[in-house]
Amino acid sequence: MRGALWERLVDEKVVRCKLCAHGCRMKDDQKGRCGVRAASDGRLVSLVADVVSSVQMDPVEKKPLFHFLPGTQTYSIGSVGCNFSCAFCQNYTISQVPPNGVIRGKHVDPAELVGQAENYGAPSMAFTYNEPTVFYELVSETAKLAEVAGIRCLLVSNGFMSEHCLHALGQFIHAANIDLKSFRDSFYKDYCGGRLEPVLKSLRNIREMGWWLEVTTLVIPGANDSPEEMRDIARFIRDELGHETPWHLSAFHGAYRWADRPTTPLTTLDMAWRIGREEGLSYVYVGNVASAIGSNTFCPKCGMLHVERRGYRTRVHGTAGVCSSCGTAIPGVWR
Ligand code: SF4
Repeated sequence: MRGALWERLVDEKVVRCKLCAHGCRMKDDQKGRCGVRAASDGRLVSLVADVVSSVQMDPVEKKPLFHFLPGTQTYSIGSVGCNFSCAFCQNYTISQVPPNGVIRGKHVDPAELVGQAENYGAPSMAFTYNEPTVFYELVSETAKLAEVAGIRCLLVSNGFMSEHCLHALGQFIHAANIDLKSFRDSFYKDYCGGRLEPVLKSLRNIREMGWWLEVTTLVIPGANDSPEEMRDIARFIRDELGHETPWHLSAFHGAYRWADRPTTPLTTLDMAWRIGREEGLSYVYVGNVASAIGSNTFCPKCGMLHVERRGYRTRVHGTAGVCSSCGTAIPGVWR
């Protein structure tokens, strides 16, 4: 299917994809780094514009989004491919196209997806599991129809999309959880096949665009878990995104090329949580592991418990978004 957001380069039989910061240039029959966009007859085509690998209802807390319609389910859609190749990818079976190039999935129609979400009574739809940037056509068509149906849409992304992509999606997306995998460019280059700066730029842009934004860091022993790096991330969030931006610290469990690496110790997550709070972040959460701290939302002014979470079970105390003790507004999208 014909792809979106690309250009033909003058005097060259080359197309350039404008979806993400890689800006891949392709001659006929070549594919981009994501493995799911290709040049054909001098045009850019998407190989996954109508392909899904996984579709299911999930708690919105699983994305994770803790300040967006808490306690609701989100109709979640994943396709195939990724513009990163993280050594530790937890979803590599769908994010990485196999060497033979065969893309496995089910063909769908955006109207069918929105109809299913309506049948389930889902208040939101999530583009998740693999990087949504690389199946932009399906995301944008589905999100437009969802808007008409009164269903809000969210992205779970690595943040490496281009400004073109972000702005094209602008009015149809309402929330995002963006990975900030590290604050070291070398980490992005060596372990992910990406770069840090485009991710920081997307985070700043999303904040300006007004989507509800939460940030996740997967804390990996020996790779990105130093106190200095945790502090750098916390300061970036505070200074450039705002201290009310939720920061999720997730435990790493061995996967893909790093399957033999150890799980993140609870002490490391607790250290990172404390640094986030010391640096002034109001909402720091620990996930992917049973932790005594860091899964509930408290009022930053009086300390009253506002949203209680046990696993994916959620209980809001009082009126969502308003502290039941002192009346302070808690930021988020609550209804
Ligand atoms: S989405 Fe990114 S990785 Fe894929 S072809 Fe476009 S620029 Fe390249």
